[in-house]
Amino acid sequence: MKPAPFAYVRAENLDQVFDLLDEHGDDARILAGGQSLMATLNMRLSAPEILIDINHIDGLSDIARDGTTLRIGALARHSQVLESSDVARMAPLIAKAMPHVAHQAIRNRGTFCGSIAFADPAAEMPAVSRAIGAKMLLQSRNGTRSVEANDFFLGLFETAMQPDEVLIGVEVPEIADGERTAFMELARRSGDYAIVGIGVQGRLDGGKFSDMRLVFLGAGDRPVLASAAGDALNGNPHNEETVAAAQSALDADLDPMADLNGPPEMKMHLARVLTKRALTAFAA
Ligand SMILES: Cc1cc2nc3c(=O)[nH]c(=O)nc-3n(C[C@H](O)[C@H](O)[C@H](O)COP(=O)(O)OP(=O)(O)OC[C@H]3O[C@@H](n4cnc5c(N)ncnc54)[C@H](O)[C@@H]3O)c2cc1C
Repeated sequence: MKPAPFAYVRAENLDQVFDLLDEHGDDARILAGGQSLMATLNMRLSAPEILIDINHIDGLSDIARDGTTLRIGALARHSQVLESSDVARMAPLIAKAMPHVAHQAIRNRGTFCGSIAFADPAAEMPAVSRAIGAKMLLQSRNGTRSVEANDFFLGLFETAMQPDEVLIGVEVPEIADGERTAFMELARRSGDYAIVGIGVQGRLDGGKFSDMRLVFLGAGDRPVLASAAGDALNGNPHNEETVAAAQSALDADLDPMADLNGPPEMKMHLARVLTKRALTAFAA
């Protein structure tokens, strides 16, 4: 299908973006990699008046280290994130999940921040950002604010970002000494969106779990932090009984919706299977 007609502006700086957002409000869309936006336009799932292309604004494409924080700029492509040695060292969960995002051609163009802003509940980066405690940097004419990943995802494709704001970057804290990670997902074909997936970050010291954060994708209207499963793990040894308790606790954490992949019961089953697999990889 062809999109509804829209105006296009190639913005030269953020002030110009803020002017256009003031003028058009909800009828404007930021264009980053276009890998989700163009599909929604072509399918006429949205029909904005104007696209504001931010690709030519200087200073938004860096992945920069500042002490124990990594800042991923709005225009850093998925492939740039995947190739970054700083990301691999400081945020290994991102590095483990990124190969599951689409295909190389889409990763070359799509942006890490675009994925966060789009907030698809089946996408990998929103879920991973919750598991690692990332912060979203939102800028408007009135200044910059940062929103914890835990408070950013409000519902299906819905975030805490206001219509006058641009996501200028995401701040990622360096993984702490002794923390481990695991990422698993099930998809029909390599490169497809996951049916269900899980990102895990936490500790296993002296054989006992602590600080466990399990976040699911494809299992709700947003990335879901499974706090009951985390509680079932924390303070307990890694053994079959503890893993089974975490699997059972998912009943309190997850309430998946039916989608094209199947009914909620199937998703719950797959979430339990993935939990066991991810905890096995986590402990290895
Ligand atoms: C065939 C196909 C398969 C895919 N498979 C996967 C997959 O398996 N997993 C996955 O996670 N993703 C997948 N994607 C989506 C891909 O990762 C997108 O690149 C990503 O979700 C959006 O990034 P983008 O830069 O392309 O954003 P765009 O498409 O440009 O924008 C997406 C939305 O975010 C907004 N936006 C973008 N950047 C900003 C910003 N800086 N500030 C404010 N708003 C902003 C836009 O206005 C728009 O509403 C797939 C895409 C395709 C086409």
